[in-house]
Amino acid sequence: MTFITFGVKMKIRYDSVFVNKGNAEMERTMETSCVIGIDAGGTKVAYGLFGSNGEIIERMEHPTDKDADGPTFSDILIKNIEIILDKRNLTFKELSGVGIGVPSFLLYEEGRVLMTSTITGINDFPMRKYLEDRIPTTIVLDNDANAAALAEHRYGAGRGTKHMVYVVLGTGLGGGIIINEKLFHGSYGWAGEIGHMIATADKGVMCGCENKGCYMSYVSGRFLPDHVRLGLEDGVESILNPDAMNGEKLIEAYKINDALAVKIVEQMAHNIAVNIFNVYQVLNINTFVFGGGLTSFGNILFDKVEAEFDRYNHISLPVHFKMAELKKDFGIIGAAEFIREGNN
Ligand SMILES: [Zn+2]
Repeated sequence: MTFITFGVKMKIRYDSVFVNKGNAEMERTMETSCVIGIDAGGTKVAYGLFGSNGEIIERMEHPTDKDADGPTFSDILIKNIEIILDKRNLTFKELSGVGIGVPSFLLYEEGRVLMTSTITGINDFPMRKYLEDRIPTTIVLDNDANAAALAEHRYGAGRGTKHMVYVVLGTGLGGGIIINEKLFHGSYGWAGEIGHMIATADKGVMCGCENKGCYMSYVSGRFLPDHVRLGLEDGVESILNPDAMNGEKLIEAYKINDALAVKIVEQMAHNIAVNIFNVYQVLNINTFVFGGGLTSFGNILFDKVEAEFDRYNHISLPVHFKMAELKKDFGIIGAAEFIREGNN
């Protein structure tokens, strides 16, 4: 039995932005430690400076330099960390550390980025060591989906749960696993990469993980053009154009009953449901929190996901599907939590 919760808005601590606080409040904040959270995404890099009470006191962002290599990328981070501290007249002494979420496979304990699909120049790079050799603060690097998972668990839809799986449905398909209220990393660091579990071994569209037919290749926005192209080649009638595809166009076509759009949405729902069902069987975690751009499909997608999940689930114990609650800043909030986790 699945329970879907859409968009339950709760007031969260991080909603408060205290940029215009009075001097007394600022002084109180500066007496104790601050944390910087960085969301180093494929399109932009966002920074948040958090005060001791968890409030955001400074924000900054810039487009991602997609051609950067490991050192170049890290040097940009260092420069901006220093700028943010300067802006608030802070030094590294007042900083507990910098948490960074990266869209990468990485060796968690070593802080080594193995590969990043969106910034391909960062390859087998010891980013944590590089940064710690240059700035006097603690650095924690982790996957960006883990950052979002932690943010949702602490402040969003996963509050109060002991175990939770975060599922990001967007350009890619990924996840983060919380067990006993802590992120689970696995042996190397990429536990939760549910998108690269294989749905149709050796068949289907080739993914960046170098396998054909992984779940990401059926579910994510990145592969929509491939499925439109395949459908048209099979002779399915459609208004969709593979060279100009995005989620909104898929939904518009779905709403007018376009045969290919219906087929693709059903294929997505089926694969999300099977993927989640498999995760449920392996971990027996009953709370799934969905984030990412494709959640805007709402009931069109998730009613089908629920129906498909229930088709395979023959035990009537509750399984909760929840929509992520943190609409913005979850990347920097989660990255800042990496540091708080280490301090607790
Ligand atoms: Zn893959």
